[in-house]
Amino acid sequence: MKKAKRQLGFKTPGILAICGFYQNSGSITELKKIVKSRLQDTERPNLCGLLIAMFLVNYKKIQEMTSFTPFINLNFIPNPSYFGIVDIEGDESEADSNDIGKREPLQSIAKPAENTRVLLYSENIIPMIEGNGNVSFVCPSCGFVIAKNVWKLSLLNLVTKCPSCQTYSVFVGEEENVEINVKTIAFKKGVYPLKSKLRIKRNICLIGL
Ligand SMILES: [Zn+2]
Repeated sequence: MKKAKRQLGFKTPGILAICGFYQNSGSITELKKIVKSRLQDTERPNLCGLLIAMFLVNYKKIQEMTSFTPFINLNFIPNPSYFGIVDIEGDESEADSNDIGKREPLQSIAKPAENTRVLLYSENIIPMIEGNGNVSFVCPSCGFVIAKNVWKLSLLNLVTKCPSCQTYSVFVGEEENVEINVKTIAFKKGVYPLKSKLRIKRNICLIGL
């Protein structure tokens, strides 16, 4: 990972590849497991993921004929903190529902005056917001999970109210200097009570005007 940081820097998106020769499927599965858990801890927004490339040769002998068939086995493991699109199919199975990644407290604010901010809230949908990332935003006052497994860049300038302790807080977002084309959806100032869980997708940023 240190070498990848050196080669990739902090701005340009890229994939880190691990290449090997003749590893059995057991070791590849083990390596995938280690890579997945290591990537859960990373916050790097420009590392798209990790590619495990294994070169293998299939040896066959039929009577007097022998043949060698070389092939490459590829496994791509997406980085959960990468906010861009990776245009190849990866193993992005449903995140473990108990795993909430890194906890980030929201910034607490006083109750905003009417029609001065975008207020998204729900009294009974828990958590209100959910995605497949590895950052969870929590109430700054009681630690209640408000946005589970999202990305740092998902929500910006949106005010919410904690369903547990009624504290008002704001998603301040983060200036990320990464070259990713991000789609944005902007909300006009007002109150938006959620009727169902807000599913946050990779690459889409919700912004309060
Ligand atoms: Zn709270």
